[in-house]
Amino acid sequence: MPLFDFHCTSCDRVFESLVRGSTPVACPDCGDASVERLQPMPARPASRHGEALPLAKRSGPPSGGCCGGGGCCH
Ligand SMILES: [Zn+2]
Repeated sequence: MPLFDFHCTSCDRVFESLVRGSTPVACPDCGDASVERLQPMPARPASRHGEALPLAKRSGPPSGGCCGGGGCCH
């Protein structure tokens, strides 16, 4: 579930809240709904060095596999 940081503009409190659909988010401290969503902080870097994925195996269709040449599911 998406967890976002919010800032209450009434009492200047920053809190986290789960966002489900279009459910309005209210401040847990003062209950005011005049909150603004903060930009999410990157939990981890987008790419890590030293962890090279085998791109040759992950990109492109498999050759000779179940779905590649056998035609079992395509
Ligand atoms: Zn508040």
